[in-house]
Amino acid sequence: MGGATLEQAYPGIAFRGRSRNWWARLTRVPPECVHLEHEFSWMATYVPDTLYLQGKASVQRQPARPEVSLCRACLLGELESELARYRGRILAFEPDGGAFSQYFFVGAPDFSAAGLKPEVAEAIERRLDQSLGTCQGCDHPAHWMWIPRVQVENLDEVGDIATAKGQALCPAHGAQQLCESFTAVSEANLLYVNVPYGEAGAYLWI
Ligand SMILES: [Zn+2]
Ligand SMILES: [Zn+2]
Repeated sequence: MGGATLEQAYPGIAFRGRSRNWWARLTRVPPECVHLEHEFSWMATYVPDTLYLQGKASVQRQPARPEVSLCRACLLGELESELARYRGRILAFEPDGGAFSQYFFVGAPDFSAAGLKPEVAEAIERRLDQSLGTCQGCDHPAHWMWIPRVQVENLDEVGDIATAKGQALCPAHGAQQLCESFTAVSEANLLYVNVPYGEAGAYLWI
């Protein structure tokens, strides 16, 4: 179960030398992009291919790309191209920029293993089954339902998940919307960000 090397996984990103030495490996500090040497207000731990199911790591793609720490620009560069390529269904909840510490995708079959309450999982699944029509930003078929925070403040609002109007978006515009919401957050230290897998699922924040 060998993972991808840093160079194979992230050809476009330069990593700090110091974060790759023997001491960093020994202490399992993930490699950092070079920008984190001077930027402290925004960083994210990017673990694209690994899903955490109640603390247990579950690899969704082989070879899995290694865990890395990225500045916002490097993170969004990775995320935007990854999301625009994904052809599955996504229900994405806009995070609370002042309060979120993780933003992650869970595939529909893993909702309960990931710890979602049954009624929440059911409400999300029902939304994922609805037809979305065309993207609000262009004429392509919509694959995303973006749920602004004013419509669903948190995942306990099961009734709001069911009735939220949301925005139907194609993969490109969905990716753009998610990146814009990250850009609007001036400071963040995200402990976990992954990418979509499987055929359908939800982007959640905690
Ligand atoms: Zn960077
Ligand atoms: Zn579009």
